[in-house]
Amino acid sequence: MRLIRVHVEGMLSPGAQVRLEAAAAAHVTRVLRLGVGDAVTLFNGDGADYPARISALGRGTVGVEVAGRTAARAESPLAVTLVQGIARTERMDLVLQKATELGVAAILPVVTARSVVRLDAAGGARKLGHWRGIAIAACEQCGRARVPVVAEPITLAAHLAAPTRAARRLLLAPESETSLAAEAAGAGSIELLVGPEGGLDDGEQQAALAAGYRACRLGPRILRSETAAIAALAVLQATAGDL
Ligand code: SAH
Repeated sequence: MRLIRVHVEGMLSPGAQVRLEAAAAAHVTRVLRLGVGDAVTLFNGDGADYPARISALGRGTVGVEVAGRTAARAESPLAVTLVQGIARTERMDLVLQKATELGVAAILPVVTARSVVRLDAAGGARKLGHWRGIAIAACEQCGRARVPVVAEPITLAAHLAAPTRAARRLLLAPESETSLAAEAAGAGSIELLVGPEGGLDDGEQQAALAAGYRACRLGPRILRSETAAIAALAVLQATAGDL
């Protein structure tokens, strides 16, 4: 039977009674048609799964009783932060979903010179909420009990000016002659910078190299930004992670 995983906000512990929020309650009752006694697994992003059972159904409400706690087993030993040049809506959505499935630790959307989407404060906050929702839904589906951090969008320049904790910084650049797999070998934590649809401009590439990024490529074909991000994450997980 398929495990039904539901993300909830707040503390969870065995024995606790939890009320699902409206959207989750509607999904569980109307789409999945679950009833009292049926099993669900809750998670709140703390790294554990909480097996639970539906204990009460009301008008639009679902009560769930937590039965236990099991340690997460879906996290990669390789900590990848995807620094993604903001691309068009549906491409970004795809990147957020697939990067989460591919075990990324964090996603940092960056505004670049050629980013088509411009974000003011309100638009940025809305997007961030939308992206975090995609990451949570991907975790529900793929079995991750840690939701990757989706950071507030900042400019690429601001990202490059800030200190890094990653052991290695890799810039995906189609004109590079070094392969991504070779550059990634042996690293335990990686920041991976991917340009938006139009790529990074020369000044941005120079600034990234000056900030410690090493240029590398993913074969001789020019990939779309979202393809490059997804393929690179698969290569990194295969080279130094858990694929
Ligand atoms: N018009 C741009 C192409 C941008 S592709 C140009 O010619 O530079 C969008 C992003 O995907 C690039 O900025 C790069 O980060 C990544 N990318 C695409 N194909 C790649 C490849 N073969 N190797 C490495 N990175 C690639």
